[in-house]
Amino acid sequence: MKREALDELKQHIPLLEYLQAHDWQPARALSRGRWMGLCPLHTDHKPSFLVDPTKSLFYCYGCGRGGDVIRFAELYHQVNFPKAITLLREWCGLAPLLNAVVNCYRIQLHRYNEALAYLDQRGIHSLQVIEHMRIGYAPGGCLRSCLLQLGYPLSVMQRAGLINASSHDSYSRRIVFPLDGNLYGRSIRSSSSPHLFMPGSKGGLYLWEHVRRYPAVILVEGLFDYAVLWQAGFRNVTCSLGNHLNARQFQQLCDVARTVYVAFDADANGSGRCASQCLARRLWAQGVSVRRLELPDGHDPNSFFLHDGDARQFQSLLEEAR
Ligand SMILES: [Zn+2]
Repeated sequence: MKREALDELKQHIPLLEYLQAHDWQPARALSRGRWMGLCPLHTDHKPSFLVDPTKSLFYCYGCGRGGDVIRFAELYHQVNFPKAITLLREWCGLAPLLNAVVNCYRIQLHRYNEALAYLDQRGIHSLQVIEHMRIGYAPGGCLRSCLLQLGYPLSVMQRAGLINASSHDSYSRRIVFPLDGNLYGRSIRSSSSPHLFMPGSKGGLYLWEHVRRYPAVILVEGLFDYAVLWQAGFRNVTCSLGNHLNARQFQQLCDVARTVYVAFDADANGSGRCASQCLARRLWAQGVSVRRLELPDGHDPNSFFLHDGDARQFQSLLEEAR
């Protein structure tokens, strides 16, 4: 790639903006507009990551690495130079595209009784939680025209995995939740596979920027678990979208001293219990205080609330967690 093209890409993506989109937060201001914060490239306990937004450069005094936004993408996503360029290019175009998709699906949600009935059946009753999570619905067959109107060519929608080869919504008849750089779709039909993501990473912990300041956080597997807990008043809840955490999610839980309450599914085959034990050991080894919740057999937090569990009973489970 030519030097000019690289410079142009870098100009499109200011380093600070890219860092913040990946949950980095400045801890303190330095002279000449520079910032210091925790290093996202290693497990950092005191801020050692220096960012100069004017020059769009970083340097970490902890791990000794530094460079521009491309170098950061290489290290952060653990990819080579050409792959980092591809990721950055996609990132440039993907954020506004996903926003447009989410807006389109949010409008549809309130037009389809089947969608609202499904949410009701999963214990989501409050408009507040629907707004907070920006929940939408893909009835099928509306996205293409909606995005074409906004000027997105069909090829872009297909490449992003939003439209399938026969030009239909990939998320058709799914409740849609926006994630950081991805979308999660839950099928409302038992005939389709229940979970759908776009190709690529599921991102970090769900709405982590809302939660990271709490000294204790509750970690759940699924977004419907998240929704019922948030609705019941537990605001320190986050979700890993499955019981296996990716490297970034794990690092987020370790970034400062906190207590993590793991509330994974107590499913009959024991996989949730197994995953939470394994996670607890790994977190403990990083100095994180971990408690595991004992939900009644066969339950997850969502079904716990659906079967007459309430906030007070869940609070008791938190207090009893070891
Ligand atoms: Zn570092």
